[in-house]
Amino acid sequence: MCKVCERLRATQARIAAAARQAGRDPASVTLLAVSKTQPVERIRVAAECGQRLFGENFLQEAAEKIAATEELGLEWHFIGPLQSNKTRGIAEGFGWVHSVDRRKIAERLSAQRPGSLGPLNICLQVNLSGETSKSGVTPQALPELAAAVGELPRIRLRGLMAIPAPTQDPAQQRRDAADLRVAQESLAGDGFELDTLSIGMSNDMEAAIAEGSTLVRIGTAVFGPRQR
Ligand SMILES: *Cc1c(COP(=O)(O)O)cnc(C)c1O
Repeated sequence: MCKVCERLRATQARIAAAARQAGRDPASVTLLAVSKTQPVERIRVAAECGQRLFGENFLQEAAEKIAATEELGLEWHFIGPLQSNKTRGIAEGFGWVHSVDRRKIAERLSAQRPGSLGPLNICLQVNLSGETSKSGVTPQALPELAAAVGELPRIRLRGLMAIPAPTQDPAQQRRDAADLRVAQESLAGDGFELDTLSIGMSNDMEAAIAEGSTLVRIGTAVFGPRQR
């Protein structure tokens, strides 16, 4: 078996074990393979091994990979920082965007989503630590943003996403993931129907799954070290 396939299988096994440990159905956690900096050949290999969902952070790099793999029918998720001048390419090329944290960006994505495609699936990125320098909406401003995004015609609000400050401490990892889950539960209490909790990376997927993650974004555990 090739290296990427071996790593994919091992990652799926980690996800399934963490889900069972938490008393959850392993099928309730989706693996998003984060392919940023990785060559398109590795994406093809992963696709041959059955992986369908891929995450990218940079539009230009992603657009080339999306075009080069068009015949495979992969599902592309944008998980990187969003700039206004990139929204058109993202609305046209991706099925999902996880990093929406401003109303203006969401409005542009909705307006620029081609009519030939279904609504764009969106997660709102939450800044858990509350540092103003980091991207993500604060938990306090989240309800208002969710209400505004929920009204947009070409957008489907699916849930929340976070990138916690890196730590090796499993207890801290769980607190961060729990904070995101609580924010999601609070929105659900306001009547939002959300099915996606996008949290967990190579180093903290077990803690994230224990707290209810439904989509883990995994780069290095699947593809090995990044290429730059
Ligand atoms: C790069 C990246 C990941 C993957 O990180 P790994 O630690 O390599 O698994 C996940 N989410 C986001 C937003 C990223 O930028």
